[in-house]
Amino acid sequence: MAAVNFETLSEDEVIGFLDSIDTILTDCDGVLWMYMNPLPNAAEVINTFQSFGKRVFYVTNNSTKTREEFVKKCNILNFKATKEDILCTANLSACYLQDLSFKKKVYIIGSEAIAKELKEVGISYVGVGPDPINKNIPYNTLNKDPEIGAVIVGFDEHFSYPKMVKAASYLSDPSVHFIATNTDERFPVANNVVIPGTGSLVRCIESCAERKAVVMGKPESYIADVLMKRFQVNPERTLMIGDRHNTDILLGTRCGFKTLLVLTGITCLRDIDKWKQSDCEQMKEFIPDYYIESLGNLLPYLEK
Ligand code: PLP
Ligand code: CA
Repeated sequence: MAAVNFETLSEDEVIGFLDSIDTILTDCDGVLWMYMNPLPNAAEVINTFQSFGKRVFYVTNNSTKTREEFVKKCNILNFKATKEDILCTANLSACYLQDLSFKKKVYIIGSEAIAKELKEVGISYVGVGPDPINKNIPYNTLNKDPEIGAVIVGFDEHFSYPKMVKAASYLSDPSVHFIATNTDERFPVANNVVIPGTGSLVRCIESCAERKAVVMGKPESYIADVLMKRFQVNPERTLMIGDRHNTDILLGTRCGFKTLLVLTGITCLRDIDKWKQSDCEQMKEFIPDYYIESLGNLLPYLEK
């Protein structure tokens, strides 16, 4: 059982740790930034890792931006990044279908970014944007488009009952692929307001479709396969940095990466204590190797 406070390591231990990693996978929201606000010194830490020759990948479950849009956001917030450094779930959904040599059309519950990534690989789609209730067209007269061969569910502010009807009806055909970008249940909660994340929408569709989706993002196997096969990451020399136990840390544990939890996002120290005391083996997988208050707190160790 680990969860060592990084800031208690000796200078030699820190040097040994840094020498033992070639690749850094960093979560984005909650580690590097909160929405559009960069976290203090996070960019300096990431850029210093890169200047040491470490390969940095930005690994995010957020399906509302394309790889190009993430590069723009990184650069605006002073993080060095190119398209090849970004793993985001809108792009992974398109790659997944491309891997299957998919030739049909996709029904999207989700953002424009998913549509753009599909377009880039030549896959056609329908469904982005609002789909309001139309009292003049009864649901049971739904005209299913026979060309639809996949349903993708990502974050969708226009999620609606008509979209549920369509998605579940397409998915009643078992040959139609069911893809979820990610399963993060909620966004960080403030002022007792709960903001449902994509995971809540996915569960809703899984429930009415009576099927389980294939999940693209952390901690599931597709993203792990992409990291291992396409990016040829060596697990023993890879560090996963994240703020969320059941996506970032769990992916790291499952893949045999070293894991570092930052306390600027979802998971807090109290959670770790709970899992350490629990008899449940699955919860042990949520415990990181190391934790640190914030990514920016690493900076003094890199400047030595
Ligand atoms: N999904 C959406 C729609 C988001 O906006 C975010 C964070 O902003 C996430 C998922 C989680 O992203 P990450 O994996 O970078 O924490
Ligand atoms: Ca996060």
